[in-house]
Amino acid sequence: MPDDAGLQALREAARLSPDNLPLRQHLAGQLLAKGYLADAEAEFRAALVLSPKNPEIITGLAEAFVRQSAYGSALAALEPLLAEPGYPPRAGVLAARALAGEGDLGRAAYRYFEAISREPALADPEFAARLNPPPAPPPVPQPPAAPPAAPPAAPAPPAPALVTPQPGSPLAPQSNAEVQSSGLTFADVAGMEAVKEALRVKLLLPIQQPDLFAAFGKRAGGGVLLYGPPGAGKTHLARAAAGELGAAFVNVGLADILDMYIGSSERNLHATFDLARRNRPCVLFFDEVDALAARRSDMRQAHTRQLVNQFLAELDGVDQNANEGVLVLAATNAPWYVDAAFRRPGRLDQPVFVPPPDAAARAAILRILCRDKPLAEMDFDAVAKVTEHFVGADLKGVVDRAVEAKLQQSISAGRPIPLSTPDLLAAAQSVRPTAVREWMATARNYVMHANDSGAWDELMPWVKGKW
Ligand code: ADP
Repeated sequence: MPDDAGLQALREAARLSPDNLPLRQHLAGQLLAKGYLADAEAEFRAALVLSPKNPEIITGLAEAFVRQSAYGSALAALEPLLAEPGYPPRAGVLAARALAGEGDLGRAAYRYFEAISREPALADPEFAARLNPPPAPPPVPQPPAAPPAAPPAAPAPPAPALVTPQPGSPLAPQSNAEVQSSGLTFADVAGMEAVKEALRVKLLLPIQQPDLFAAFGKRAGGGVLLYGPPGAGKTHLARAAAGELGAAFVNVGLADILDMYIGSSERNLHATFDLARRNRPCVLFFDEVDALAARRSDMRQAHTRQLVNQFLAELDGVDQNANEGVLVLAATNAPWYVDAAFRRPGRLDQPVFVPPPDAAARAAILRILCRDKPLAEMDFDAVAKVTEHFVGADLKGVVDRAVEAKLQQSISAGRPIPLSTPDLLAAAQSVRPTAVREWMATARNYVMHANDSGAWDELMPWVKGKW
């Protein structure tokens, strides 16, 4: 029980005037600020009864929970708030802390970076470091040494307008991203025929039939924004597009770019584009791009806007040929946060929706996920039927779980026992699907209430469906 006189007076006032919302809220805030967490929790709960949807009270309650390590309660309190578009960034940071507390660092990083892209003042480098364990020192590709007295023989890759790297300086650009070979093709992507076709036309045909495209004044390059619920297969698809094209694949995560020092994120971004330019043809894939390309109007600080400007400058290139053979694929679960300037021609001008799989696609995904395992007779359609609302990532979880159980049985039996339909059905019972429904609810809000430009028309039939 707090023994602070001021608090006691406030508490007494609240007792005498129990329906005074501002008073209760103030008391709860004071208790929280002074670290009386259980009392703060009780006061926020009481205030919430008076004003059930109040975002400040919900975030206050969530903070009281997080600071008491009651992470599940914090997430449950925040859930309705986070389902609304444009929720307070502080709620996002608290959700990130709760998710990290539960060990879900991937989703924590997503929430955290999304929130600080909207309110950079909430950045906490120490917490961010927990989310992004420093990568192993990357192999830095060395440019060919120039002859001592002469300029380099090959023209240097053009620098973009905004950040000019200083060779040899401690801040000389390095890309943390790595060049990979994809190892997948569209044959490894089940279903999604419409999406594959859109990528073929946009990315593959201009390279396979350059003359035809040139005749219409079109050239290879540019980008596509893949959007849809988490786990629906955006990364998988991007990797397969690189393989289909015979292109190198550079997979860029937020940790490869975002840096707490002003200017460093822009340098990292430039270095990453340069890495792709040196390895063309190359698919440059940006995951969670909404954190790098957030709406500038939402940002309070100029230096975060600078990163968006840099990204736009890199996409445009300093001249026509700068990005020839560099295909930018970007993925986001929250396309509505991406600055509209990215949708201009030559940038990420083609948003492509990566939908959650229907029953036929789920059966096809399961077939692909199981293809290299010892199998009994399988009825993938039966498993697809009981996994409504599961996305590719969830189905992978089902297969992984079933395989683990089978492995245990095989070890006990001393011989390999093939995987069967009941194994998958049992595993499906124990896997909870990720948040497709919640995603659809958020998408519905944007499609119905913030679709003036028609940007989300493609989603209309989906959000009107049953979820
Ligand atoms: P996202 O990038 O949309 O969050 P991912 O691409 O990481 O989702 O998908 C997670 C995993 O689910 C992939 O690694 C892949 O194994 C599986 N997966 C998703 N969609 C498909 C698909 N259409 N065909 C085959 N596997 C898929």
